[in-house]
Amino acid sequence: MHQYKGKLIIHTGSMFSGKTSSLKKDLNRFRIANYKVGAYKPVVDTRGGDKITIHDESSMDAKCMVDIKEISKDARNSEYDVIGIDEIQFVGGDKDVVREEIESLLNDGITIVAAGLDMDYNAEAFEIIKELLPIADYVNKHHAVCTKCGTDAWVSHRKVSRSERVLIGAADEYEPLCRSCYQKTVAEENEEVNKNQIKLEIAR
Ligand SMILES: [Zn+2]
Repeated sequence: MHQYKGKLIIHTGSMFSGKTSSLKKDLNRFRIANYKVGAYKPVVDTRGGDKITIHDESSMDAKCMVDIKEISKDARNSEYDVIGIDEIQFVGGDKDVVREEIESLLNDGITIVAAGLDMDYNAEAFEIIKELLPIADYVNKHHAVCTKCGTDAWVSHRKVSRSERVLIGAADEYEPLCRSCYQKTVAEENEEVNKNQIKLEIAR
């Protein structure tokens, strides 16, 4: 008899914190326990084609889906007991629709293991994560290591200035930082910007 029915398990945290590895590990455990398991990822994440790619180079088969409705339909048609959704913060659909679909799957007894970023590089929370954390049965917050001081990291700081909220697969352009190193780094960056502006004004 399957112990897990209609449970929502969330793995969240910054980049390089091991969210996807944990998702994969959970799904493998469910497979060993003879649950029928499916894995999905949003189509926006094009790394590795139809595989869930993780930073330690291992991968698992995942179906690329455009939005939550598509995932939900496929999960029901495939009669999965458990589904994994990677990069949940990018799953298409309005946040209310995502929550409704997730709850409907849970109500039907399907267990969902979701992995996703909690915050973007500006330390702003992703809306879908905000919706899902309160209704989750289990929440696992993962931590990378701060590249400046070695304590638990808190946010994925972007080292280059670009307007997109997240640069997919551009791992080199991010560094995990703790709150204090993040604040120091952002203050230094702002100072640099101000200096350059002053230089420009003097040059005029
Ligand atoms: Zn630090």
